[in-house]
Amino acid sequence: MPAELIDGRAIAARIRAEVSAEVATLKVGGVVPKLTVVLIGDDPASAVYVAGKGRACVEVGMSEDTIRLPASTSQPELMRLLDALNADPSVHGILVQSPFPPQIDASAVIRRIDPSKDVDGFHPVNVGKLMAGDRDGFVPCTPAGIQELLRTCDVRTRGLHCVVVGRSNIVGKPMAALMMQDTPTGNCTVTICHRYTTDLASYTRTADILITAVGKPGLITADMVKPGAAVLDVGITRIPDATRKSGTRLAGDADFEAVREVAGLITPVPGGVGPMTIAMLLRNTVRAAQRLAVA
Ligand code: NAP
Repeated sequence: MPAELIDGRAIAARIRAEVSAEVATLKVGGVVPKLTVVLIGDDPASAVYVAGKGRACVEVGMSEDTIRLPASTSQPELMRLLDALNADPSVHGILVQSPFPPQIDASAVIRRIDPSKDVDGFHPVNVGKLMAGDRDGFVPCTPAGIQELLRTCDVRTRGLHCVVVGRSNIVGKPMAALMMQDTPTGNCTVTICHRYTTDLASYTRTADILITAVGKPGLITADMVKPGAAVLDVGITRIPDATRKSGTRLAGDADFEAVREVAGLITPVPGGVGPMTIAMLLRNTVRAAQRLAVA
């Protein structure tokens, strides 16, 4: 029997509705949650992501501001802008869209954002809180969204083996940290794989929960998946597809149709993990506004 599909769009819509209600409550108290996105340069993919985030904010009643800076922006100019946003009480969440131009030191940018406004959850303070199991920090949006998918689908994670393929700071590492925490949605035994892992399949085949965040379509084949496993596919890559009018389509890391025959639960690409990322960004921003409102 093919795996059950995890409908990320429907689950994300529910979270957006919850956020919308929380925004309405904050507004009664005179607080309008606001996300400020800084976009440097004219990378077309970044512009599309940023536009999507802006639309999502407006849809839940939040305020959104996108500050567009030229690709020639210097590090000190960007730092001054971040200082001003940190000090602005009307701004609750700050996000600097990656990738950055080469003259910008990405880790210095992340460190400059006030951790209480770091709704991406990339600041070392928030990373440390996640590792320490302190729930007071912001958790990066994609891993938080995946945990929400597992929770909604009633996957009892305790004692399961979770294999995370990919160790980036934005997905793989925080994902692994979340799944090993002593929480109702954690308590897994976690294995992290990367490009130096020898015999990837020998690890993935033992995964009850397989989370893949690589960006290589077809990396995960059906014979690499344990029967009945939950497969969460973070990968998004545009590949040629002559059957589509556009000539392309989006693909995850898993060979979807074949893996679906083996897995018990699986996220499609698109429509699985992707919609959750923006939903969790909205949730983090409303949390930031709630905390700053009582601070
Ligand atoms: P990344 O920074 O490029 O990290 C990719 C990871 O995959 C690295 O840790 C790399 O290992 C590992 N890797 C590469 N080849 C491998 C192989 N053959 N076997 C095992 N591991 C391998 O990418 P990312 O930012 O984490 O994103 C990963 C994918 O998820 C991309 O397709 C991206 O577009 C997508 N994404 C989707 C969402 C969403 O909302 N759905 C959000 C973020 C990212 P090394 O560390 O050894 O290089």
